[in-house]
Amino acid sequence: MTTLDGETALVTGGARGIGRRYALRLAEEGASVAVADIDLRSYEAYETERSRATDDTVVEELKSEGHEVIGAELDVTDPDAVDGFVDEVVETFGSLDVVVANAGGGDGPMADTHASTLAPEYLRATVERNLYGTVYTCVASAPRMKAQESGRIITVASQAGRTVLDGGTYAHYGAAKAAVIMYTKYLAADLAPHGITVNAIAPGYIDTGKLRSNVDERSAVEAGIPMGRLGQPEDCADVVAFLAGPGAGYVTGAVVPVDGGSAEL
Ligand code: NDP
Repeated sequence: MTTLDGETALVTGGARGIGRRYALRLAEEGASVAVADIDLRSYEAYETERSRATDDTVVEELKSEGHEVIGAELDVTDPDAVDGFVDEVVETFGSLDVVVANAGGGDGPMADTHASTLAPEYLRATVERNLYGTVYTCVASAPRMKAQESGRIITVASQAGRTVLDGGTYAHYGAAKAAVIMYTKYLAADLAPHGITVNAIAPGYIDTGKLRSNVDERSAVEAGIPMGRLGQPEDCADVVAFLAGPGAGYVTGAVVPVDGGSAEL
């Protein structure tokens, strides 16, 4: 018996990176898993992600390990598409118990996204993907969870949404993730009377293909982290498994940093 036996979990942005690890971990915990991503083969873009993949997509990986899984290619900034997939998940598995609104990330180069010089197209795309995508995912999921009088929603913020990155760069991303944090708290207040918890995870520098492609010198980044190393996707998945599991039933409205102490110390 594992902690999420009989439950259904939805992970957005689950085709690679940290989201893939959430999908694998929630399945290991016993959940049936639904993976949504704009491209289920997005792992092909980065060598690190290609080397971690064990099948054509994470959906195939889970199937071949014997888990119940469905997948869809959709854009989380399209509310109708998200709503349609949530319907399909409930029709397929009968419930929706855990949602990880993970699809996100920033646009534009680090050097060109300071607060005073931000290009409108980077701002728009990043706010839409991170904030709107999170809100649409939660709004689509909440009615099903309210009907069940139970559920766990986990949003994905960032260290950058809690503290300013060096030199004030990636301002649009930090602002979008700060908005995700505040939305999470409003949603937690809204859904607490329905027995639904809503918490955010706030990762620091996590070792994904995309992060590696944005970092020139890994050792310089690690020197700035109190624990002296990049986080691994598993570090985030441990926290998501806790927030989704029986031990976190009385935890809501929280923001859990997974950053080796970066934003705290
Ligand atoms: P990745 O970019 O590696 O993975 C994100 C996945 O989501 C990709 O497959 C991406 O596809 C997909 N995606 C992007 N936009 C959409 C969309 N509109 N609809 C559906 N899917 C979409 O990200 P990480 O694994 O590194 O990060 C996952 C989450 O954690 C993000 O919210 C990120 O902001 C957050 N985070 C990550 C940190 C890190 O260090 N890695 C640190 C702090 C927070 P494609 O790229 O092909 O568009």
